[in-house]
Amino acid sequence: MNTATAFGELYGRAPEGEWAAPGRVNLIGEHTDYNLGFVLPIALPQAVRAQIRRRDDGLLRLYSAQGGPEVTELRLDDLAPGSVPGWAAYPAGVVWALRAAGHAVGGADVRLESDVPGGAGLSSSAALECATAAAYNDLYGLGLSAPELAQLAQRAENAFVGVPCGIMDQMASMCCRPGAALFLDSRDLTMRQVPVDLAGQGLALLVLDTRVKHDLGDGAYAALRAGCEKAAALLGLSALRSLDPSGLPAALDRLPAELQPLVRHVVTENARVETAVAALDAGELTALGPVLTAGHASLRDDYRVSCPETDLAVEAAVAAGAYGARMTGGGFGGSVIALVDATAADRVTAAVTAAFRAAGYAEPRALTAVPAEGARRLR
Ligand code: ADP
Ligand code: MG
Repeated sequence: MNTATAFGELYGRAPEGEWAAPGRVNLIGEHTDYNLGFVLPIALPQAVRAQIRRRDDGLLRLYSAQGGPEVTELRLDDLAPGSVPGWAAYPAGVVWALRAAGHAVGGADVRLESDVPGGAGLSSSAALECATAAAYNDLYGLGLSAPELAQLAQRAENAFVGVPCGIMDQMASMCCRPGAALFLDSRDLTMRQVPVDLAGQGLALLVLDTRVKHDLGDGAYAALRAGCEKAAALLGLSALRSLDPSGLPAALDRLPAELQPLVRHVVTENARVETAVAALDAGELTALGPVLTAGHASLRDDYRVSCPETDLAVEAAVAAGAYGARMTGGGFGGSVIALVDATAADRVTAAVTAAFRAAGYAEPRALTAVPAEGARRLR
């Protein structure tokens, strides 16, 4: 059944259109966005598709093919932070954020369908938000830019759902381009599309989903973010992004022991993004490998957001010949990326799978990341 037919069976009418917004993997620059630093994500071919038809009776009806059998029916006037449980909070939060920003949008019938694995560190939540935001922007003629929509989607996740995420996921889902990584400065949202011709250089970027579910709502993420903000305040900075690697040793001396590794990660990670961009600009893609692996060590040892499964996947991938590997996304599980020769992709996947089996872990799910397009109208 095609998506329009499925929409018709659900709501008794045809959709006015269909939009897609992708998941992402971040090449490097983890936990830097809320410190107003650099990130370097690519969009995945996996995306959320949203079919939508406007309503004029103040109702928002939401259905997700991955969200259970029922349609969630909400009154626009009742939308308030924390009022919507479960997955429906993501699209409902976008509608709430639009209205809270003064945009005169009404209700809609919404059908969502996704092949972005959820909770795998691949940003299924931002894809859900951005597909909804892109559809509302077009259908209600709002004329908002992609970065403006990304900021509204982030506000939905921060204020309505209650996850204090940075801006990377929403900017990646809205603004990425095929064949490129998005070099984004989270402070002012300036960005540059940096070509990443993996296939042209005989390379592949493996994504290994460890199937360990993180839950960024559990407070660990919020605690890390608060630690960074406290460190910045102690150093008299507006954000850790303002600290250069050259100033790091002196800054660490001024901080309590428990904040030092957080600051060390953020400052070195920000520098790793710039190193990675320089490698891409020079067309030396394999030079990215050691940067990825160093980034993982920093997340494991300093930021402490990795877990035994992601550590093992990185270790096994590198031992099997990957140029480099790291966990991607917020952490506490999720996915690992590994840069490999295209001809070695199967071998590296098999090596990680064997290592997982030996450790008694569930088999990882493997995808190949091909830099794909950001949010767009499909029809
Ligand atoms: P990530 O964004 O890395 O996938 P999150 O924890 O931020 O992980 O978001 C995962 C949540 O997003 C899920 O628990 C679910 O509530 C929601 N979600 C994602 N995709 C879908 C979908 N296709 N249908 C319904 N809910 C979804
Ligand atoms: Mg998310």
